[in-house]
Amino acid sequence: MKPSDLAKARILVTNDDGIHAPGLEALIEIANQLSSDVWVVAPEFNQSGAGHSLSITRPLRAREVSETKFAVEGTPTDCVLFAVKHLMKARKPDIVLSGVNRGTNIADDVTYSGTIAGAMEGCLLGIPSIAFSQAYAHDHPVKWGTATHYGADVARRVLETGWPRNVFINVNFPDVVAGSVKGIKVTRQGVRGFGSYIVERQDPRGGSYYWIAYAPGEHEFDDESDLAAIRNGYVSVTPLHLDLTHEATRRKLSAQFETA
Ligand code: MN
Repeated sequence: MKPSDLAKARILVTNDDGIHAPGLEALIEIANQLSSDVWVVAPEFNQSGAGHSLSITRPLRAREVSETKFAVEGTPTDCVLFAVKHLMKARKPDIVLSGVNRGTNIADDVTYSGTIAGAMEGCLLGIPSIAFSQAYAHDHPVKWGTATHYGADVARRVLETGWPRNVFINVNFPDVVAGSVKGIKVTRQGVRGFGSYIVERQDPRGGSYYWIAYAPGEHEFDDESDLAAIRNGYVSVTPLHLDLTHEATRRKLSAQFETA
């Protein structure tokens, strides 16, 4: 995308943390640095962990916050579909931006993330899409300033470079102040090796209920991974693609079934 086209582009902003999330304001700030035509369609409630889920057994309610800002009682996927196929159908968005998520979306997070799914849905609809997430440590305030300092520049550079239709971009900002960021690294999706486990609790009537909890590990030490970039204080830019086929295994299985 040429810089002159980008300045005129219609941008759709969504997220998974919901319409009231501070990270949504951070992404609106980023989008406003790119273009003056910014629309927002975000979930009414927090959809973190919703992945790429689509609401097909219940209706979607949309609440108008302003002329160009809407809250939808649904998932990030619902929001992007509602925006592209209904709200903005007269002039569809040229770019979809999703985030800025509170917390990283790297390695094993990718398929659980509603933030990434927002960009995934934009990509499925043929629109260049970018997901943004800000790393943070649980006992510190989120450094949104790092995202807003780097976000527009990263978006501009990836959009100017361009990418194929079934690809979208996953950007993560490290948990350091903007002035301490070491640079920008183009990475691959790492493997964290989730230590998910179930916590059992008791309700006041003696019944059990459960929380999914996790102790993150880092099982892979790949210097080119998103994990390594974030750990070392770099902005991580990962091109992801919708085709989950594993080619080497496909070839091996083809050979197996041909000889059978
Ligand atoms: Mn989230």
